[in-house]
Amino acid sequence: KAKSTLMNAGEMARALTRIAHEIIERNKGAENLALVGIHTRGVPLAERLAALIGRFEGVTPPLGKLDITLYRDDLSEIALQPVVRKTEVPFDVQGLRVVLCDDVLYTGRTARAALGALIDLGRPAVIQYAVLVDRGHRELPIRADFVGKNVPTSRSEVIKVKLHETDNTEAVELLEW
Ligand code: 5GP
Ligand code: MG
Repeated sequence: KAKSTLMNAGEMARALTRIAHEIIERNKGAENLALVGIHTRGVPLAERLAALIGRFEGVTPPLGKLDITLYRDDLSEIALQPVVRKTEVPFDVQGLRVVLCDDVLYTGRTARAALGALIDLGRPAVIQYAVLVDRGHRELPIRADFVGKNVPTSRSEVIKVKLHETDNTEAVELLEW
């Protein structure tokens, strides 16, 4: 059940605008940038950031997609493992400054899988990580470079991210599982 609204449409738009500026600042422009969205909601977020960066800098970074889904393997009741299902990166990552984009950062296991998939494609100059929400509970030494909102959560809570592109509405909500 819904407990509270963490971000409304305006707050989400301002967070993404800020992150776009931070990405440009950190990378001294948009020349060698590429954005890679992770499966469902990281993809529209990457598209929005690419459009914002294009608007601010006059250079729109190329966009890739990774389909990484949490998969419960048959041998284990509890072990959810991120599995890379599809890699759509239609440019050479060699020497590029690649920003991975996702909606929520939790244990870091999806990011780890994404890093593996990207590094398999070539040798980016640097990989950075942008998320709309960091909800804590890391299980790996992974952190985001760009964060829309830090939300301390309990493990029994989940974050619901709704985007126009996937959900026909725009909000970030905290739910009790
Ligand atoms: P991690 O692999 O870091 O544990 O989880 C990150 C991935 O799982 C992201 O792709 C994200 O979409 C999804 N995820 C993990 N926790 C949540 C959550 O509370 N809400 C949403 N919407 N997605 C989550
Ligand atoms: Mg996800």
